[in-house]
Amino acid sequence: MKTEAKFNEARCTETHLLKIFEAVSRERLLDTALRLLGKPSRTGEAADAADELEAVLSADGFLVQRSTAGYPAAPAVAVRYSSGSPGRTLQFNGHLDTVHLPFVPPQVVGDRLTGSGAADMKAGIAAAVEALRAVRDAGALAGGDILLTAHDMHEAPWGDGRQLDALIAERFVGDAVLIPEYFNELLPIIGRGGFSWTAQIRRPGPPVHEVLRPNEPSVIAAGVKLASRLEQLNTALSSKLHPMAGSESMFIGSIQSGAIYNEYPQTCRIEGTRRWLPGTRFVDANREFRELCREIADTTGTSIDVETRLMRDSFELDPQDPFVAIFQSAYRTTTGEMLPFGGKPFVDDGNSFWSSAGIPAITHGPTAGGAHTTSEWVNIDDLVRVARLYALIATIYCPPTN
Ligand SMILES: [Zn+2]
Repeated sequence: MKTEAKFNEARCTETHLLKIFEAVSRERLLDTALRLLGKPSRTGEAADAADELEAVLSADGFLVQRSTAGYPAAPAVAVRYSSGSPGRTLQFNGHLDTVHLPFVPPQVVGDRLTGSGAADMKAGIAAAVEALRAVRDAGALAGGDILLTAHDMHEAPWGDGRQLDALIAERFVGDAVLIPEYFNELLPIIGRGGFSWTAQIRRPGPPVHEVLRPNEPSVIAAGVKLASRLEQLNTALSSKLHPMAGSESMFIGSIQSGAIYNEYPQTCRIEGTRRWLPGTRFVDANREFRELCREIADTTGTSIDVETRLMRDSFELDPQDPFVAIFQSAYRTTTGEMLPFGGKPFVDDGNSFWSSAGIPAITHGPTAGGAHTTSEWVNIDDLVRVARLYALIATIYCPPTN
């Protein structure tokens, strides 16, 4: 596989490289980013941004497909650009939705683009679009296809990744995928999966003065028992450790019960997260948690309503996959260095591609900040770098098969 990377690298003569790099237009990229950022697109409401992306791509001469992918309110956007020769398909994938915060319109401030979705991640999508245009304009795709996909329903808790799951099920997938999230200091090869959970402990009767309390279990005492068992579980899980991704965990973030000091409360609500490493399955972690809650309910005489919400399953990337060598050779060409391997601190669409379809995914995007705040920004020079890198990876990854 190394030979393959080298062979394709050899195709990248200086003239060839220059042609690809020159085909990336900073102005066109910025214009696309401004147009996408100009359309508010909170999770579940990304239709306008998706329509805008379709308009940009159609005006550029690409054939755009819109699939509802299980979410008709904002159909996803897909373009399959083909070289006309057989070969591998490289996918660029991003989410158009932003977290539910007040809309901040886009603005260019010095070397930065600011506004909702600047970091997370509409500007990254614009860089991927520019890479697609550059590859086409430079005539740099000798074989295979580039598939560009963009969708809604990513950001929790409003979204749960269901539109991407549907896209994957409908086979809007490549042989490898690049995800331009705001992360570029490491090449993530492992990441934890996670679910958030709520356990609502109840006794039958209404809230009442404590001196009048009926012979019913204390929901607070049951809550303390549950919390203590979860802490024990967390200690046991901490031995499942990966040097890059950290350890498995059971985390309690909130316990709420009681209105005042002398009222016997009716409910106790506990919330938290469970995170796991590749090798552990969501279904098993989920069952273990539910069984533990059932046992506490049985022994305390309470009832416990359990809710778990999958964020994403765990993520792994085989460092030996040819896609990794190709990414590194393109990265070295654009920066002169290799990117060190590391863990992915968050869950993202790469987890879905890997866990539900076994597709190698690399999260690599522009230098940016302020994600999940009203002060998002992205570095414009770095957007250009990402567009060039993506274009170069496409030309190396998608050689003709014969
Ligand atoms: Zn994101």
